[in-house]
Amino acid sequence: MSSIRADIAIVGGGAAGVAAAIAAARKGASVVLIDRIKNIGGLASNAEVGTICGLYRFEKSSRFHFNVGMFAKEFAMELQVRSNSAPQLDQTGLSYLPYSAQHFSQLCLDLLQEEGVECQVAEVVGVEAENGKITGLILVRDEGKLQLDVQAVVDASGVSRISKILHLPLIETQFLQSASQVFTLANVPFENERNLSLVVLKALRKGVLSGELEETEDRLYLVPGSLDAGRVALKVTVPATMEEDVSKLDLKNRAVKVIHHLMEFLKSHESAFAEIELESVAPVVGVRVGDRPVGKHVLSDLDVLECRKHTSSIARGNWPMEIWSQAKRVEIRHLIEGDYYDIPAECLVTNLAENLYFAGRCISSSDNAIASARVIATCLQTGYAAGILAVGRAEGRSLNDCVEEIQREQFGE
Ligand SMILES: Cc1cc2nc3c(=O)[nH]c(=O)nc-3n(C[C@H](O)[C@H](O)[C@H](O)COP(=O)(O)OP(=O)(O)OC[C@H]3O[C@@H](n4cnc5c(N)ncnc54)[C@H](O)[C@@H]3O)c2cc1C
Repeated sequence: MSSIRADIAIVGGGAAGVAAAIAAARKGASVVLIDRIKNIGGLASNAEVGTICGLYRFEKSSRFHFNVGMFAKEFAMELQVRSNSAPQLDQTGLSYLPYSAQHFSQLCLDLLQEEGVECQVAEVVGVEAENGKITGLILVRDEGKLQLDVQAVVDASGVSRISKILHLPLIETQFLQSASQVFTLANVPFENERNLSLVVLKALRKGVLSGELEETEDRLYLVPGSLDAGRVALKVTVPATMEEDVSKLDLKNRAVKVIHHLMEFLKSHESAFAEIELESVAPVVGVRVGDRPVGKHVLSDLDVLECRKHTSSIARGNWPMEIWSQAKRVEIRHLIEGDYYDIPAECLVTNLAENLYFAGRCISSSDNAIASARVIATCLQTGYAAGILAVGRAEGRSLNDCVEEIQREQFGE
């Protein structure tokens, strides 16, 4: 098996992994970022989720007040320019930034290239560790196996892959956050998203009441900011239950079946939709939450809902908990208006592997807390912080020192 070495390995090239790689490289480390999917950006690119949530403070009166670390803010501002988009506010006072998936991916690539990060298209299948310290990763590429010797690892895999390989304790998901599939329709004769949403929802409710649609088939949502020149992106909840062990391929097949069923229904029951066409289906089905590791602190429901502050804060959460169940349409549990919660550095580290750091959807958190902290703006922040922690700790600095550096550089504190 051939081998290479790097100071820091980042597992996962989603929002969190990309931010971690950039942070570590900016601190002078040699960095290898690994993702099994060639198109960089994770769910934000490949599930085409379409909006960055969690950038702005939850305030109904003053709009679009950034309340995130500097990197997340600069990333969003550049993406906004490239996507030719603008922040939007919904009826409940939540603001978000629509973006194009292609631009998200390209921006990630440009930044990684600028910082000299090496990207490997590979699956991480093994971890080598000695005395509670990771020494290397085993990657599988098309060309064969590769050993990567490292000083520290950031797990930004979205599914806690490294913790699972190391058999570290996990917080197992207790309830199913439904998966969704994004798809794009063409020939949609609407210019106003709110009107379009209302017409779609009314038609689907009628279908459910008449028995022509299944009870769960009204779980269709517009991707905000996506309506443009007769094209619109929508996301549909994929039917599955907690008891089923459904593969991603199965989920995808189910999603495509529901999409075709809904399209046929809308075409034949609503004259405005007679000409709609399915333009594309996002390459990756959107699975919202996986198991998380048990870190030194587990971000709790009350940390989020009571907007608790922590002295070791490395990121700010501005987004509510979103509970996507099969039983009803999405349920939103809001933060305190005008406030935000802190994510402490202890959610990114464990006592059980001294050079392992968690980022994005893999931070140590309860089921409900991650239902808020998984949004892209928060993933960018926890990712960036994990990159700085990985380098600083590898250089022998204390956690507190690294936290102070993050607070100074990212939040001007
Ligand atoms: C349907 C849906 C809609 C959403 N809508 C929004 C929204 O509107 N706004 C918002 O802000 N957020 C939204 N989110 C949440 C947000 O998109 C994700 O939580 C966030 O993008 C996750 O980023 P991440 O970097 O933590 O993980 P991911 O984006 O999941 O990246 C992890 C990467 O790791 C790679 N990987 C995993 N295991 C391995 C391995 N063993 N070897 C190599 N690579 C590996 C994967 O291929 C993946 O690319 C939505 C999520 C879903 C599912």
